[in-house]
Amino acid sequence: MSDTILKLDGLSKIYESKSVQVRALNHVGFEVREGETIGIVGESGCGKTTLGRCIVRAVNASSGSVLYRAADGNEYDIQKIDKKKMKKIRSEIQMIFQDPFSSLDPRMTVFDIISEPLKANVKLSKEELRSRVADMAKRVGLNPSYLSRYPHAFSGGQRQRIGIARALVLYPRLIVCDEPVSALDVSVQAQVLNLLKDLQSEFKLTYLFIGHDLSVIEYISDKVGVMYLGKMVEFAPAGMLYEKPLHPYTEALLSAVPHADPETKGDRIALEGEIPNPANPPRGCFFHTRCRYCMDKCRTEEVELTERESGHFVACHRAEELSLQGIAPSK
Ligand code: SF4
Repeated sequence: MSDTILKLDGLSKIYESKSVQVRALNHVGFEVREGETIGIVGESGCGKTTLGRCIVRAVNASSGSVLYRAADGNEYDIQKIDKKKMKKIRSEIQMIFQDPFSSLDPRMTVFDIISEPLKANVKLSKEELRSRVADMAKRVGLNPSYLSRYPHAFSGGQRQRIGIARALVLYPRLIVCDEPVSALDVSVQAQVLNLLKDLQSEFKLTYLFIGHDLSVIEYISDKVGVMYLGKMVEFAPAGMLYEKPLHPYTEALLSAVPHADPETKGDRIALEGEIPNPANPPRGCFFHTRCRYCMDKCRTEEVELTERESGHFVACHRAEELSLQGIAPSK
C-alpha cells in the first residue's frame, strides 16, 4: 500500500429486517494516502455516515474490506481482525461526531471526557494523565482551567473543541470527522475548520471528512467523493471535481453552491423528485430518475465507477460525451 494508509474495497452494508433489505453501502472502494483529507459528500441517506462507521468498525460491513496500514507497518482488515487487535488499532483511528451537544456526557467534567480514552488504553500516573489532558486542551484552544467544568457551560464551538481533544488525546493517525461543523454557526465553523487543519499538520493526521456543505468540503479536502444512494458516483482531486465534474449529480450539487461574488450567477440545476427508496432502488443507473441527461441505456444498464482521467473516477454511461458545468475553485 506504500503511502496508502486506508484502502476500501467493495464495501457494502445491508440492513435487513423480516420484510425489507436496505443497501446502505453498495460496493464502495477508494484509497486514502497518509496526510490527505478525503471529503465525502452527498444528500442525507446517501450512506456517508455508514461509510465512516464501517471504517471505525462501529458498524460491521456485510461484505468488502477496510484495509488499514497501522503504525507497526502491518496491514489489517478493520472489518475482520479480532477484538484484541481491534483494541490496539482503535487508538490509531478515532472519530469526531456531528453534534457537540449530544456527543458529550453532561454528567462528566471536561477532564473526565478528554481523559476517558487514555484511561481505557494507556497506563499513566495521575500526574501524567493530568498533564496530557491539560496539554491537549491547550492545543485545541481550551483554557486548562476549564477542565473541571461540565459541557453545559460551553458554547457549541467550545464543545466541539472538547470532542476534538477527546479524539486526539491518544495521538491517532486517522480521524473520521462526521459532519463536525454542520451544527455550528458559520463564524464558528471557520474557526473549527482552521483548527482541524492546524492539528492535521501538527500531528500529521489523515482525515475522512463527511459533510453535505460543498463549500466546507472544498475548503478542507484534497480529494472528494460524491455518494448517491449508497454508491460512490464520482471521486477525484477536489480542484478537478469542482472545476470539471463528470457526473450529472455532482454538477447539480455544485450548481447550488453560493458564489462569493454576487454578480456571478450560475444556472442552478433543480433536482426533480425525491431520492429513491434505498429498499427499492431503481434499475440501471440509480440516478436516472432525477437525471436530466438520462437515456434508454441508463434505465436498464448498471454503471460502475471507472477512471476516466488520471485520478478522476466516475460512474456514468455518458461521462465521455457530456460537457458539464463546474465552479471555479476558491483556493
Ligand atoms: Fe445520468 Fe445516465 Fe449518467 Fe446516470 S448514467 S448519471 S442517468 S447520464
